[in-house]
Amino acid sequence: MDENPTKTNQSAHLALDIGGTLIKMVYLSSDDNCSPDSQVKVSQEESNEISDGLMKCHTGKGTLHFLKFETSKIDDCLEFISSNQLCSHGDLPDKKQPSAHDRKLIKATGGGAFKFADLFMERLGITLDKVDEMDCLVAGANSLLKANNQEAFTYMNGHKEYLQIDHNDMYPYLLVNIGSGVSMIKVEGDEKFERVSGTSVGGGTFWGLGKLLTNCKSFSFDELLKLSHVGNNRVIDMLVGDIYGGLDYSKIGLSSTTIASSFGKAISENKELEDYKPEDMARSLLRMISNNIGQISYLNALRFGLKRIFFGGFFIRGHEFTMDTISVAVDFWSKGEAKAMFLRHEGFLGALGAYTSYQKEGSGESMSHQLVEQLSNGVQCTGENQRLLPAEIKSQGK
Ligand code: ADP
Repeated sequence: MDENPTKTNQSAHLALDIGGTLIKMVYLSSDDNCSPDSQVKVSQEESNEISDGLMKCHTGKGTLHFLKFETSKIDDCLEFISSNQLCSHGDLPDKKQPSAHDRKLIKATGGGAFKFADLFMERLGITLDKVDEMDCLVAGANSLLKANNQEAFTYMNGHKEYLQIDHNDMYPYLLVNIGSGVSMIKVEGDEKFERVSGTSVGGGTFWGLGKLLTNCKSFSFDELLKLSHVGNNRVIDMLVGDIYGGLDYSKIGLSSTTIASSFGKAISENKELEDYKPEDMARSLLRMISNNIGQISYLNALRFGLKRIFFGGFFIRGHEFTMDTISVAVDFWSKGEAKAMFLRHEGFLGALGAYTSYQKEGSGESMSHQLVEQLSNGVQCTGENQRLLPAEIKSQGK
């Protein structure tokens, strides 16, 4: 890595969330020529690798970049940090002559901040300054909800609606982060929270079990998700109608199309795994996992009397069918009393939380305050968040 700060204008505040499946990166570049397409120096190969993880918020103060890398390809992440000189003097806006130690310290959260600490040191000379994962998720969610009027939205039956969250009346709420696994956190204030539940049946299950069931081991997450689009879960799921001869079980509010048993038809049919289409299995699996998470979330909200449930994590991916299934589950079990809400920066809560944590150590201007400013004042979003296919948010500063 070239450490000469004069060689780059990528003055960056950089934070990482190194999860079981994905590394999420947030950094602020303060370059002057803020053409949204020219912010990051990425070679063609790199661009292919990371393009589906790239979002940008272009503000008057610079550009906030959101990127992701597969954790199994951590070398790409190291190479990106190195070639874009993201650990430069710019991490320390108040200090003109940072010490060598300062220059190499970056905030990192997630289990990978422990697992890969030595690797970062050996390869880049960077010390990962570890920040607690739950602290970061909550700090990220709170900052976003305060910063961005267009952060939280509902999605049901193809209808998306942004919600205005009153900053003075945000708490309490349940934060459900669907990553490889799922965490459910009761949030009662800025730093007041408790992880009240979770489930190991999450995004990692969908991708892992999906690969096995469809026998498409080389499939990316997005390919599996795409496959589920064209599938039909009724081929494998046992529906109420299958049991009731095509009828509803209306006495307890179950329509004939309600899933009685996920994958339940596979018992009675004399079929092998190969007899089922990959797309049908991907669909059933996605529905099973999303339904289950929606239900457990609602039960935890009920358990603690929480009216609001926000869903984040990279599993959601702005994917309509996933959000719809979660919303319907919450609606069904709450009898319409509760609504699932989704966060636009879904997968970046932890990384944003780590980014805002620089503030605590007084390294320059209040980062969380800055973030709020960056995301609220200077941002006019012109793009949609990822909807399955790679996309960029390009937000033009006013
Ligand atoms: P973690 O911190 O555990 O890695 P994330 O919030 O990053 O969790 O979510 C990881 C999950 O997101 C994966 O298990 C997978 O279900 C889903 N996912 C979404 N997009 C991708 C992608 N491009 N590559 C891999 N997994 C993805």
